[in-house]
Amino acid sequence: MNLMLSPADPSIKLSVVVPCYNEEEVLPELLRRLVPVCDTVSGGAYEIIIVNDSSKDKTWPMIVEAAKDNKRIVGIDLARNHGHQIGLTAGLSFTRGQRILVIDADLQDPPELLPAMWARMDDGIDVVYGQRRSRDGETAFKKETAKWFYRLLDKLTDVKIPQDTGDFRLMSRRVLETLQSMPEQQRFIRGMVAWAGHRQEAFLYDRDKRFAGETKYPLNKMLKLALDAITSFSVKPLQLAYLLAFFTAFLAFVMLIWTLIIYFTQATTPGWTSLMAVILGFGSMQMIVLAIF
Ligand code: UDP
Ligand code: MG
Repeated sequence: MNLMLSPADPSIKLSVVVPCYNEEEVLPELLRRLVPVCDTVSGGAYEIIIVNDSSKDKTWPMIVEAAKDNKRIVGIDLARNHGHQIGLTAGLSFTRGQRILVIDADLQDPPELLPAMWARMDDGIDVVYGQRRSRDGETAFKKETAKWFYRLLDKLTDVKIPQDTGDFRLMSRRVLETLQSMPEQQRFIRGMVAWAGHRQEAFLYDRDKRFAGETKYPLNKMLKLALDAITSFSVKPLQLAYLLAFFTAFLAFVMLIWTLIIYFTQATTPGWTSLMAVILGFGSMQMIVLAIF
């Protein structure tokens, strides 16, 4: 799967991608704060791509209205709720600008940081990723699970995925091109960007609380993201399957010897030894074959 990417348009300096799911309460405020910043850094040469991840509220009609008022705003309407990462992927594939900003709709990532991030890229950095110095208005549960997740991921993978980051980042078009050429289906974008290489730099910031509404990342979506991250960036779970297979095969072998000893030394129920031999033999064989696949 090679993902589509719109041809670059040299007249567009900045493309912004905003994934939205039920964000009617935040959208007007987001645009009020985001548009002037984009205008400043790009001298009016920007586009804002807002992806509606099949919202159930008025998000889409609001995007349509905004796009009528401002020709630089582009709306994408997904046919069903695909989730944050696929929404982002769809948005990214429509970008035409030289630099791409990914930002959440809920204003947890302050748009006003863009000029400072932009300046870092002027110095030759390819990816300026927001790294949380603090996190306001988030439940203790979310903060703790996120912290442990990033530490676990770091232990499991060889790619250095920066800790305490989201998808808030500014990147160059060449990084985006690498990203879109990756065949991953379950996309963990912040990890894929890290994998893409070039010069990447953290930009420390204080993450605000949501401007309005509630999180669109309930526990099941968080778990899915975590699983996608681990399975796409680590072979450790597969290696674990190997270890487990050899361990159970060894155990089966020991048990087989034990059943044979009993067969020769004590009176056993007829058929027990052969049955055990078949179960243990096939059981361990299946484990090994499963581990290979
Ligand atoms: N989002 C989305 N599809 C979803 C869930 C979330 O596009 O199925 C968007 C959401 O509108 C927001 C961003 O992804 O712009 C991050 O979601 P949210 O702020 O709710 O997550 P949190 O900050 O609580 O982790
Ligand atoms: Mg949020």
